[in-house]
Amino acid sequence: MSLSAGRAREGNHMEPGPGAEGNDPMTSAHGTETTAGPIPGNVAPEDTTATGERGANPEGMAAVTRRAREVLAPTNVITDRTRLRTYECDGLANYRVTPALVVLPETTEQLAAVVRACAEHLVPFVARGSGTGLSGGALPRADGVLVVTSRMRAIREIRRADQRAIVEPGVINLDVTKAATSSGYYYAPDPSSQQICSIGGNLAENSGGAHCLKYGFTTNHVVGAEFVTPAGDVVQLGGLATDAPGYDLLGVVVGSEGTLGVATSVTVRLVRQPEEVRTLLAGFASTDDAGGATSAIIGAGIVPAAIEMMDALAIEAAEAAVHCNYPDGAGAVLVIELDGASIEVEHEFREVERHCNEHGAFELRVATDATERALIWRGRKSAFAAVGRISPDYIVQDGVIPRTALPEVLRAIAELSSSSGVRVANVFHAGDGNLHPLVLFDDSVEGAGDAAEKVSGAILDLCISHGGSITGEHGVGIDKAAYMPKMFTDEDLDTMQLVRCAFDPNAIANPGKVFPTPRLCGEVPGRKKRAHPLVEAGLAEAF
Ligand SMILES: Cc1cc2nc3c(=O)[nH]c(=O)nc-3n(C[C@H](O)[C@H](O)[C@H](O)COP(=O)(O)OP(=O)(O)OC[C@H]3O[C@@H](n4cnc5c(N)ncnc54)[C@H](O)[C@@H]3O)c2cc1C
Repeated sequence: MSLSAGRAREGNHMEPGPGAEGNDPMTSAHGTETTAGPIPGNVAPEDTTATGERGANPEGMAAVTRRAREVLAPTNVITDRTRLRTYECDGLANYRVTPALVVLPETTEQLAAVVRACAEHLVPFVARGSGTGLSGGALPRADGVLVVTSRMRAIREIRRADQRAIVEPGVINLDVTKAATSSGYYYAPDPSSQQICSIGGNLAENSGGAHCLKYGFTTNHVVGAEFVTPAGDVVQLGGLATDAPGYDLLGVVVGSEGTLGVATSVTVRLVRQPEEVRTLLAGFASTDDAGGATSAIIGAGIVPAAIEMMDALAIEAAEAAVHCNYPDGAGAVLVIELDGASIEVEHEFREVERHCNEHGAFELRVATDATERALIWRGRKSAFAAVGRISPDYIVQDGVIPRTALPEVLRAIAELSSSSGVRVANVFHAGDGNLHPLVLFDDSVEGAGDAAEKVSGAILDLCISHGGSITGEHGVGIDKAAYMPKMFTDEDLDTMQLVRCAFDPNAIANPGKVFPTPRLCGEVPGRKKRAHPLVEAGLAEAF
């Protein structure tokens, strides 16, 4: 669960600034955190079970450090403990581990050389982009190397005629759009962290965003990647052409959370800027009404660019933080954005207006210019951080449900909240059914953190029981690995392990993440004794 306890609230993360290391915005955000003492939920370096440690390998580590010093500039190899600690967590700051070594390669060759050395000496490595991840995916290893891509930030090519951009993995999401704007294009997947998160991190998490309802997630926009395998080989997956024969290995790699290797360049699809964008803010008495309007709009065959929902508590927080001036007394608001050809937008707008009215919208506001549009979005985009104004601590949960289940699940969350006395603010991608309940608590009150964790876990159970998933876009990382068996059978998990082992037989790429227990790779201890049925049948090989 995404426990943002006290000193490490999400608000910190939205403030890009000159980073202590490699101009990494998340590093600067966490720089102030590193002197803090242990906080509940910390994974201490010596806690070998939580992070899947394989045991100390000082000779291997020393050999990798020597190799890193041979191939990288001295400033790009960090071994000083104080500086290492600036990388001890990602956006999920209640898990912290100081890495043994941090490298900041500037080229694919440098990065591959370090990974090759890791493979040779069986030293684990973890890739890190901007460190904004909310599931602990970039949590380092005390016995391993953190490979940071923040010095690989070149936009190699904007290929207007191909509608493609080829960028290095450390490039910030929003910078792709900035580079393509003058050509009349933009990069569609827009996580709320788009001012600071990297394209490599987006690929690894299959990140979503407000406009993914119409345009699809990262997986629909990544068409190729240069990729360093855990053996240190550089391979090309996909490319400029629309299809390639053979297995869709690019599809396997997108969303693999750094467990299959490291992307060193990413080819993304660019989308034409629409002729018109219209942004609408609708105030409702309740989340039931707003959820009903969402289903009605999409059920009518309209796919807006975005439909985002905030409930009363989330609105209260946003008002306190950014004075977004949302409708007074609203139990919920919808931010709806339509884009496309003007004639189409006009038609859809009338339909959306009608559905909102039929579901009890008491106020409808349309942005008349860019400033009003920005103000409407500011309330929504600031919501995670804004919650820090109304609660000292909070958990950012991430789950997904079929959108038609929205009213029922939101009601159940409200019941959980009132029966437990734990406040829950809801702000989410309503069109996708991707919930982000923010579970509020005060860590200085004894038992409050545990109560919040319980509610947060119960919300995930609700998602699963309504046909949804334990994560919509923030990934599994270390945080939700224990939840995987709630969604998948042993056989499902073993099949995923076969894929992982095919890429990484030595289990050195981000081990301890995504899977509750490493299995099947022969040398890694696993809890399952019996061979996978595919292996027994001679149809697959366990390494
Ligand atoms: C305020 C806030 C709002 C957010 N809003 C959204 C949102 O709307 N939608 C959403 O999807 N997410 C959101 N996030 C989560 C986060 O920003 C995304 O998951 C993002 O894609 C992470 O990118 P990063 O560069 O920070 O990756 P990191 O946190 O550095 O790494 C994330 C994972 O990717 C792996 N990785 C990083 N680079 C590479 C690479 N080059 N090759 C292979 N693996 C790699 C890491 O090992 C790790 O497992 C939000 C986070 C914050 C703090």
